[in-house]
Amino acid sequence: WSSPPYSCFTRPPGEEDDAQYSPVPNSPAKVHGHDGSSGNIPTIYSHKLKIICELIISFYLFPSVSQERNQRLFYKLLIENVEELLPVVYTPTVGEACQKYGSIYGRPQGLFISLNDKGKVLEVLRNWPEKNIQVIVVTDGERILGLGDLGCQGMGIPVGKLSLYTALGGVRPSACLPITIDVGTNNENLLNDEFYIGLRRKRATGQEYAELLHEFMTAVKQNYGEKILIQFEDFANHNAFDLLEKYGTTHLVFNDDIQGTASVVLSGLISAMKFSGGSLADHKFLFLGAGEAGTGIAELIALEISKQTNMPVEEARKKVWLVDSKGLIVSSRLESLQHFKKPWAHEHEPVKGLVDQIKPTILIGTSGQGQTFTKEVVEAMTSLNEKPIILALSNPTSQSECTAEEAYTWSQGRAIFASGSPFDPVEYEGKVFMPGQANNAYIFPGFGLGLIMSGAIRVHDDMLLAAAEALSSQVTQEHFDKGLIYPPFRNIRKISAHIAANVAAKAYELGLATRLPQPKDLAKYAESCMYSPAYRNYR
Ligand code: NAP
Ligand code: MN
Repeated sequence: WSSPPYSCFTRPPGEEDDAQYSPVPNSPAKVHGHDGSSGNIPTIYSHKLKIICELIISFYLFPSVSQERNQRLFYKLLIENVEELLPVVYTPTVGEACQKYGSIYGRPQGLFISLNDKGKVLEVLRNWPEKNIQVIVVTDGERILGLGDLGCQGMGIPVGKLSLYTALGGVRPSACLPITIDVGTNNENLLNDEFYIGLRRKRATGQEYAELLHEFMTAVKQNYGEKILIQFEDFANHNAFDLLEKYGTTHLVFNDDIQGTASVVLSGLISAMKFSGGSLADHKFLFLGAGEAGTGIAELIALEISKQTNMPVEEARKKVWLVDSKGLIVSSRLESLQHFKKPWAHEHEPVKGLVDQIKPTILIGTSGQGQTFTKEVVEAMTSLNEKPIILALSNPTSQSECTAEEAYTWSQGRAIFASGSPFDPVEYEGKVFMPGQANNAYIFPGFGLGLIMSGAIRVHDDMLLAAAEALSSQVTQEHFDKGLIYPPFRNIRKISAHIAANVAAKAYELGLATRLPQPKDLAKYAESCMYSPAYRNYR
């Protein structure tokens, strides 16, 4: 990859990613290499994009090489081809990259903090060359997508998410810090893999785990101050809810699996209501999967229903039913349920044949188990509803509850469908359906930008509702007619700026913003804050 034909991808030495360069008006950006070669970027794209995409998909090596070697070109390519490249830097390819992380490992792209660093986490943090950090995405690798425990190979997730923070949300690359906390892994295959890059021990739990995490959270605030955004990503649910609760009152923390997913799904549902009539309170929701995503979405739906109707949130929760690996969550199971499931334990017989029994109007898959929305399930939803809403949210593609084609075919083209990982458009009886991607990538980059630009010091649920509304406001009748409950991804930077402005407005309203005075036009201000990979005019 470093051979001469690709030398134009090399980053000139000493160039800062975030230096301000003026783009050349009315002239295509130029790429200049050490060898003096130059060329128009659009020409390079058109000749090489297809080949590059295929190679990236095969190896996943290229984006990291490119990201390290020519950050600006990496982001320019990503921003201008976001629909094609999102599946490469994000789900589904990022899942495969994490699984193979040990054997494709080149240079560390983020910071690893392990149990061996206990007592000196602050020192380790200070080793990171960039000082002006605004957002950290951190994982401990225990629940990577729907792929389970990948130990510290989960680093692909913070790296991938932060590249979206920059590409979609316009946060400067140098202000982003990916971190993986290595507390061991319970994945036997990895423990026996000679290329595994992490600690070869079982996961630390209990006090040992809590102490390292606490030292980390304290060190982050000590080093970067009150306004540093810490996004928790792909922690297992037995830690995720506790961490969010524990640090939600002292730090600017956000759990994307719980809160970001909730906001994006609520947004899709608000759009579906807007164009197909009715309101959220008219619906009955059934979730397959009662973990971070499932209960997070359920809670935000209940909150929105309660705000829309003045119904107490406890009442609103009764419209939502969840199923976990042991079956329907019902009151007779209350004693043995994890705390985050307890609010959903309603009165009901323990049942089989859930769709028939519960008669939902909206079915949401958040179990990480592929092929669970079978033909029978989709047909049952279709027999109960004129327009069944079916969301197959599990990632990556292999874990999707059903494919777009299955959803449209089995529902005879009647389903309103969206999925966590992308699917191609589907033709059914002469009509082309565009399956939307219900993915938190719609929300977290703009949400984070809104927090950063307002200098917010805490996250509040009302900000999640504001983000959901802001995203939904970008969906038009034309989109909906094509089957979409989300706006097209190609406009994501504008969408993110709009979300950011609304989240920031909420932060000011709640008294949680510290950047004063409040900018007059938050939408304009959001756009002006966004990093853009413009090329220097060398002439
Ligand atoms: P999680 O906290 O581990 O929750 C998984 C839930 O699924 C648990 O309640 C589990 O039951 C349940 N489950 C497992 N197998 C089941 C089965 N055969 N039948 C019924 N329920 C079953 O994971 P999560 O964070 O919620 O993530 C779940 C999936 O959602 C992952 O694939 C993830 O990639 C995806 N996700 C997508 C997005 C998006 O933007 N589209 C965002 C976040 C997450 P127990 O509680 O009994 O173990
Ligand atoms: Mn996640």
